[in-house]
Amino acid sequence: MAEQDFPLIFEHSQSGRTGYSLPEMDIPTTDVDTILDERYIRQNEPDLPEVSELQIMRHYTALSKRNHGVDSGFYPLGSCTMKYNPKMNEDVARLPGFSHIHPYQAPETIQGALGLMYDLQTILEEITGMDTVTLQPAAGAHGEWTGLMMIRAFHEANGDYNRTKVIVPDSAHGTNPASATVAGFQAVTVKSNERGLVDLEDLKRVVDKDTAALMLTNPNTLGLFEEHILEMAAIIHEAGGKLYYDGANLNAILGYARPGDMGFDVVHLNLHKTFTGPHGGGGPGSGPVGVVKELSPYLPKPLLKKENETFYFEETRPQSIGRVKPYYGNFGINVRAYTYIRTMGAEGLKRVSEYAVINANYMMRRLQDEYALPFTQHCKHEFVLSGKYQKKMGVRTLDIAKRLLDFGYHPPTIYFPMNVEEAMMVEPTETEAKETLDAFVDAMIQISNEAKEEPETVQEAPHTTVVSRMDETTAARKPVLRYMKNEE
Ligand SMILES: *Cc1c(COP(=O)(O)O)cnc(C)c1O
Repeated sequence: MAEQDFPLIFEHSQSGRTGYSLPEMDIPTTDVDTILDERYIRQNEPDLPEVSELQIMRHYTALSKRNHGVDSGFYPLGSCTMKYNPKMNEDVARLPGFSHIHPYQAPETIQGALGLMYDLQTILEEITGMDTVTLQPAAGAHGEWTGLMMIRAFHEANGDYNRTKVIVPDSAHGTNPASATVAGFQAVTVKSNERGLVDLEDLKRVVDKDTAALMLTNPNTLGLFEEHILEMAAIIHEAGGKLYYDGANLNAILGYARPGDMGFDVVHLNLHKTFTGPHGGGGPGSGPVGVVKELSPYLPKPLLKKENETFYFEETRPQSIGRVKPYYGNFGINVRAYTYIRTMGAEGLKRVSEYAVINANYMMRRLQDEYALPFTQHCKHEFVLSGKYQKKMGVRTLDIAKRLLDFGYHPPTIYFPMNVEEAMMVEPTETEAKETLDAFVDAMIQISNEAKEEPETVQEAPHTTVVSRMDETTAARKPVLRYMKNEE
């Protein structure tokens, strides 16, 4: 759709046209002036477009079509696990018994909902190999912060006030050093080696008596499994530190390996990624945190418990870090995750990681002749390419990402992780068909050929989208954030 076809809602405005009809008022009315303070009363009529219902419908429908979602096309955004979100989850989340209850209700009136939460906690304990799980944190980064606050409380309870450092690999997701900093620690970087794994010698060098924790995701953010995880766990534990597992990459190991068995003490999960809560665009997430027994006294309160077939909230928890979220977490996302887990079953969850890993390896091997592959071993659920060959021809990774839009694809994550030049991080997920993977690879190969033969086609992309290439500098310096009527 061309820009000029877009219904400009202000321009369609006709004085007196409405998009609603209300019945005549049959109760006494009160003049607002008599009940509201003058300060709160509008001096001028709001400048809103006056349009019909059909016009406003077309406006919003046109707006919605400008979006790309996993329901409209392939979305290989690395580290984000943009898999299909089954619609059965939505049906279950909308059941009145779940959607019409209120968090202030007495626990005895919502035993079914609490039972679902308790079951989900128990299942996640089994999946992660942790002792106790809380569903409170609202998303991944919030789970990271919650976990680190517990590690902090643990060290302080031992009189260990000098453990101020959290070690984070240079390939880590940006939220890791950020959460460490917000939790009051100093983030210390450990280098990756030439195979993209944590450099054990460098780890030994940075670990000391001030180490509070090592934060890690395994497979790491390059999609590579940290083969020496047990040795790393021993190094950290010997120094008195704890191991924190960023569980956003669980899609790669679901049903096959458990962070608890690798030596981790705290785990957060991104239910909105691995367990199909729809995400992207800032929707609600859920970032449950699991801990080993030694850390469970510090879990947020209240903690959901079960006694004699009754579910209740344990409020008295003297060593708890306190509440981290109002009420009990993002319940609706937890219902969706629970539905997903129960429909997949244990065997189905194993298939998830198998297909996620096979899909990623298939694409990686098809692409490695055309794009630089910095780490050549098998990957897990995602892989990182480098656009450095194309950059030599004057085509940047940003250009490649923009060109992919012309093919109807969401681009991979680009310029991340930061330890790879011109990085492109591709995560196909398990829900895509082979034809889709092939079509995306073919588009990537075509773009690489264009970089050699007609670089302008890539440099000036996208050519088919509603909004064409932005002037990045002006967009950053003088952003136009709202529609401006009659303004230049
Ligand atoms: C997505 C992600 C996070 C952050 O999760 P949010 O829910 O977005 O806060 C942390 N670590 C990794 C590796 C991730 O992919």
